[in-house]
Amino acid sequence: LPESHAPLDASNIAYTYTTTPRAVPAPDSDETKSQKTCTDHMITARWTIESGWETPELKPYGPLSIMPSASVLHYATECFEGLKLYRGYDGKLRLFRVRKNCERMLRSARRIALPDFEPSELEKMIVALCATDGEKWLPKERAGHFLYIRPTFIGTDSALGVQRPREALLYVIIACFPDMTKSLPSPPALNGSANGTAEKKSSSGLKLLASNEDTIRAWPGGFGYAKLGANYGPSLVAQGEARARGFDQVLWLFGKECYVTEAGASNFFIVWRTKEGKLQLVTAPLEERIILEGVTRASILDLAKTRLSKSVNDVESLEVVEHRFTMEDLVSAQSEGRLIEAFAAGTAFFVAPVGKIHFRGKDIEIPMAEGDSGAYAKLIKSWLVSIMYGKENHEWGVVV
Ligand code: PMP
Repeated sequence: LPESHAPLDASNIAYTYTTTPRAVPAPDSDETKSQKTCTDHMITARWTIESGWETPELKPYGPLSIMPSASVLHYATECFEGLKLYRGYDGKLRLFRVRKNCERMLRSARRIALPDFEPSELEKMIVALCATDGEKWLPKERAGHFLYIRPTFIGTDSALGVQRPREALLYVIIACFPDMTKSLPSPPALNGSANGTAEKKSSSGLKLLASNEDTIRAWPGGFGYAKLGANYGPSLVAQGEARARGFDQVLWLFGKECYVTEAGASNFFIVWRTKEGKLQLVTAPLEERIILEGVTRASILDLAKTRLSKSVNDVESLEVVEHRFTMEDLVSAQSEGRLIEAFAAGTAFFVAPVGKIHFRGKDIEIPMAEGDSGAYAKLIKSWLVSIMYGKENHEWGVVV
């Protein structure tokens, strides 16, 4: 790279404030549910092969101008992130492990030949935007609510040749987003006794439709580990079919063995007892690079390892394992009474108990020890809620 090739540097952002500020929609309004309303500002940073990164600009939210021949529109040179800005019960605004999203964004960018950047500089851009729009769009009265942050990176090179983009745009927007987790404990409880009485009853968990061989989300050597737009467009037909048949999400299987990988745009966990009688929390491993490494996934594994190595109140301790398991393993555990619970985990749906999986013409009913959740999903969710909304002081909660 030439000497003049500037790295991404968010220490000196150029600010231009909007002159037409907009009204903030109510959390449960149709406008919020539309997921189309973004906050007053966005932050952008342009990159060119000749000079590297330009100074990031915080400016009014509005349309981008790119050429119809832009790389992203033809060759899917796009990656993105998804995280939330939380309004804590202590009145503070927090991000949750934002650095992890920035690091994953870099891994995604590398998969599609977009340029490198220092993840901590992207983090500064995110924090600057949240600090600008957070107070107005997520006011103090909205404790327990959140906004959705969408960092995006696109190849804007207008040359039509199939090649590494020589120009790119990194930007961050913030959207109003409905709460998809209607069974969120409120206010969060720290202990695990979880008697469920304070919970709003949703349905009895997510209903998943197992994918069939003609729709594969990710494969070894592919890009399932990266958060590329190219992973999502091709999943929409299967997702639409699942919805039309009354299911919430697709359970993505892989290979003729039917390895269980992910659920919709979430990681997937089960708690079972092995044939030898060991209680385990299990999720698919990362080695083959067909799993997106969720920030929620990493956090659940971490919390379960540290806090569930001993029993918590009346919740039994368990072993945490990342290894492959098949639908056949899951079905036999269920029929032998060894399946304890299952849940999906990710930013959008948070920790969502799974009540049913439809596979090859049959329904597999998943136990729900607490009525609308398993005990482990409920306990882990309450720990995460406490960190995100400032009930527990924890290094994962980054105050803005
Ligand atoms: N898997 C896929 C395919 C996803 O799109 C997401 C959402 N980013 C997740 C898992 C969960 O990741 P996270 O916990 O970081 O939201």
